[in-house]
Amino acid sequence: MSLTKPLVTDALRAVAGAAPGTNLVSGHHLLWVSACDTYASIKLQYPAPDKAGFDALAARAHAAVLSAATPLGTRVDSFIVEFVNESGAVVHSRRFGGPTGTPQPEPPAPPQAAQQAGHAPIPGLRPQSPGLPGVARIIAVGAGKGGVGKSTVAVNLAVGLARQGQSVGLLDADIYGPSLPTMLGLDDQEVVVHDGLLQPFLAHGARCMTMGKLVPADKPLIWRGPMAHGAFKQLTEQTRWGELDTLVIDLPPGTGDVSLTMAQMLRLTGAIVVCTPQRVAQDDASRAIQMFRQLGVEILGVVENMSTFVGDDGKEYDIFGKGGAQHMAQRMGVPFLGAIPITMSLRQNSDAGDPTANFTGTGRAERALAQALGAMIRQVESQVALASLKQAQTTPKLTIS
Ligand code: ADP
Repeated sequence: MSLTKPLVTDALRAVAGAAPGTNLVSGHHLLWVSACDTYASIKLQYPAPDKAGFDALAARAHAAVLSAATPLGTRVDSFIVEFVNESGAVVHSRRFGGPTGTPQPEPPAPPQAAQQAGHAPIPGLRPQSPGLPGVARIIAVGAGKGGVGKSTVAVNLAVGLARQGQSVGLLDADIYGPSLPTMLGLDDQEVVVHDGLLQPFLAHGARCMTMGKLVPADKPLIWRGPMAHGAFKQLTEQTRWGELDTLVIDLPPGTGDVSLTMAQMLRLTGAIVVCTPQRVAQDDASRAIQMFRQLGVEILGVVENMSTFVGDDGKEYDIFGKGGAQHMAQRMGVPFLGAIPITMSLRQNSDAGDPTANFTGTGRAERALAQALGAMIRQVESQVALASLKQAQTTPKLTIS
């Protein structure tokens, strides 16, 4: 059984509120609950005297949720408590769980001065990519053209890695057509800025940021080169990512300004190119591969999306053909990371903002999808390990012609 909003809310009735005889719910301290799978986060407004007071209350809330969930056989892998002031700004946060399974305080915010100086590393953090303190690996997901499933692959990769216990960030850098608000179900969530930095949204176990939450949904996003550069830089550098094992970046389709900015700003672990099996899509994807090569970005490999259709009867229908992207990967001398079938539930879950359901479906087609996603993620992990080894032996170079 998964964690649900009612389960978490009811559990918090066992935690005393500030006024005598009240609890966190009846005392109106609980402002917001998000629960999904084995992850939950809450927002509290509470008059604690200091950080130790906030931490003690967060620990009581965590213990209450654990004691409600455990008898039901429900795990609580990650529980985040954010304390907000009257204007909604986060004043303190506490995280329980995550990769090490131990309570983890939020990492320190990058000092403004260090940011302006080009993100000087903060002492005590793990090895990091220049440009993003505390982020161990950065994977960009690109495609030669739109509509091939690039965002779908980026979202499911991030959610899949988070489900394995990694601390994962997901940046929707598709500033021209951001799709993460829909795909992750962020509609009800509000943008919060604290200490001059954007708080990432916690969705499906990943910390996410998207231009789609910063501008009205019906406003056309027309960016000229320098503006696109600025928008990407702002989203990347002014989000409080904290310490991440992996940051997944969903790039705009094609070859353009954002990819160039990204390659200049960040030391990427590598890029994934998503492609459908048709010949026209392969040609575009080859151009994307060439672009990453020119930018000095390691190619982790190619994912073939919409590879085949698996019907409810479990039969396979090759609507767009099959294997085209794999042949293209061979021709271009890059790894093939796997094929994702066209699945009705994948489209439905994306529209419903529930990518977690892609990993938990029980029907035949859903199981095939979960297997395909799992296999792709394992391949990505192997290529990331190889790329990290290579990177440790070389210095980055950027060649633009
Ligand atoms: P892109 O980011 O390349 O523009 P998206 O990831 O937004 O493409 O996908 C485009 C549409 O196709 C979305 O509605 C998405 O849900 C759907 N889609 C993508 N891959 C699949 C798939 N394998 N099966 C079913 N629908 C898919």
